[in-house]
Amino acid sequence: MNCKELAFLLADYFDGTMDPQLRSELETHLAMCEPCMKFANTFRKTCEKTAQLRKSIEHKIPDEVRARLASFVIAAVEKYPEKMQEYRNQAEQERKEKVLSLLRAAVAGRLSSMASLLVETHCAACPGCKEYFGRLSEAKAGSATPSQEIDAHVTRLMESLPPDDEFFLA
Ligand SMILES: [Zn+2]
Ligand SMILES: [Zn+2]
Repeated sequence: MNCKELAFLLADYFDGTMDPQLRSELETHLAMCEPCMKFANTFRKTCEKTAQLRKSIEHKIPDEVRARLASFVIAAVEKYPEKMQEYRNQAEQERKEKVLSLLRAAVAGRLSSMASLLVETHCAACPGCKEYFGRLSEAKAGSATPSQEIDAHVTRLMESLPPDDEFFLA
C-alpha cells in the first residue's frame, strides 16, 4: 500500500467497514510513515468535529419541542396537503441548488479542505463520481447536470459536513 492508496482508504478505516487484511496493511503503513500518520490524525479529527457539530445542533432542540413540532407537522400535512407539497418542493429545490453550488465550487477549486477531502475520498471508492468530477474539471463548467445517482452521493457528502450554508467553500 502506498501513501496515496492509504489516503483514499482512510474513510473506510475510520468508519470500521474495512476488511481486516487491508486494515492491518494500512496500520503497518501508518506505523512506518509519519506524513500518513499526520494526515490520518487530521482526517479523524475533522470527521469527529463534524459529527460533534451536528450533534450539538440536534441537541439544541429539546425532546418536548421536537415532539410538539412533529405533531404539528403531522397535523399540518393532514390539514394542508398542498401547502406541504409546496414546502417539500421548495426544500428539494434548495437541496438541488446546494448540490450545484458545491459542484461549481469544486470546478473553481474553491472547496474547503474538508470538503475536497471528502469528495476525493468518495471518488476513490465510487467510479461514477470519479468520472463525473473528472469530466467537470476538464470542462471547467458547472453546466453538466449530475445524474440522480451522483446527485444522491453529493447530497450524502454534504450531509456529513457541518450544516452551514458556506461550509464547503475554502
Ligand atoms: Zn505514507
Ligand atoms: Zn459516488
